[in-house]
Amino acid sequence: MSQSSVPFLPFVRPEIDEETIQGVVDVLRSGWITTGPQNQKFEAALSEFCGGRPVRTFNSGTATLEIGLRIAGVGEGDEVITTPASWVSTSNVIYEVGATPVFADIDPVTRNIDLDLLEKAITPRTKAIIPVYLSGLPVDMDRLYAIARAHKLRVIEDAAQAFGSTWNGKRIGAIGDLVSFSFHANKNLTSIEGGALVLNDEAEAVLAQKYRLQGITRTGFDGMDCDVLGGKYNLTDVSARVGLGQLPHLERFLAQRRKLARAYFAGLEGAPATQLGVGLPFADFDNSNWHMFQITLPLDKLNLDRAGFMAQLKERGIGSGVHYPAIHLFSLYRARGFKEGMFPHAERFGATTVTLPLFTQMSEDDVARVCRAVNEICEQYGK
Ligand SMILES: *Cc1c(COP(=O)(O)O)cnc(C)c1O
Repeated sequence: MSQSSVPFLPFVRPEIDEETIQGVVDVLRSGWITTGPQNQKFEAALSEFCGGRPVRTFNSGTATLEIGLRIAGVGEGDEVITTPASWVSTSNVIYEVGATPVFADIDPVTRNIDLDLLEKAITPRTKAIIPVYLSGLPVDMDRLYAIARAHKLRVIEDAAQAFGSTWNGKRIGAIGDLVSFSFHANKNLTSIEGGALVLNDEAEAVLAQKYRLQGITRTGFDGMDCDVLGGKYNLTDVSARVGLGQLPHLERFLAQRRKLARAYFAGLEGAPATQLGVGLPFADFDNSNWHMFQITLPLDKLNLDRAGFMAQLKERGIGSGVHYPAIHLFSLYRARGFKEGMFPHAERFGATTVTLPLFTQMSEDDVARVCRAVNEICEQYGK
């Protein structure tokens, strides 16, 4: 088959059904397009999904993380421990509220924060932890919360990639302290852009609403007060309608992603790629929602750098991505004292990882095609 006859396979593509598209048209025609009835429905559905806990929607996962920190009382002088192997928003929000990020390196097997190192990073100034569930794989939640309780720390879970993931049969979001989801276009459940914060009680929900919209509370028919410094983080009803339209498909989305992830293991395990030293993700089929399938490249055994490897995939009609370069090596972080060598596992992962295509409308044949390409490139360019 000639390569040009095969359609390009992107690394991610959202699945929006016709009913949702029609629902969005109805919202646009309804006369109320920003935060309104669709958001109320979306929040109610998310709350039900999270075991009845209060949930408030936001216009991004970054906003939910920042407001989560504010609700937890994190500010000037506080330290927050997180992982350097994440999207940069995880730690940017810590600076945003005036606190200081403290990184703990990852466990190279799970690629999530190493809980031993996390515990060692705790100081008298530590106020909170932001664990990240990279590609939807949770950390050991029992251990995480045991550490948090022992040191009286708040937890703001960056579950941006973990919607639909579980821990011992319980949904992420149905357990824990503050839990932050993102509904960015590339996430397992999307509202185009958006996020949701799972809260502990009604008092936190009221505070979340204030932070979401200028700190305003309405009293009576015509009264208004502003008693906290809030921002502008509310979600439109167009977005909420998209999110609502995704929820009925979630179980199918999860099943399909797990099936595709299994097909990746079948196509790469024991094949030329892994024989050369390509690293595979932790094979968790109990808890993870398989938000991404990330391999690591044995660059010392390849006559190609990562960009060259990705270009080879592209030549074969396959898209790929990088999630993520180690945060502490970005210029902003270097300027604040972080250096190469501080978190070697996150650095190695960030420098060698490639995200392969994984989305619900892919088939197992598509995965087989990607695996053939990866194996072929490894054979062709392996030393
Ligand atoms: C996507 C993502 C975010 C940010 O979410 P946005 O909705 O894009 O603001 C934060 N953390 C992680 C781990 C993410 O994947």
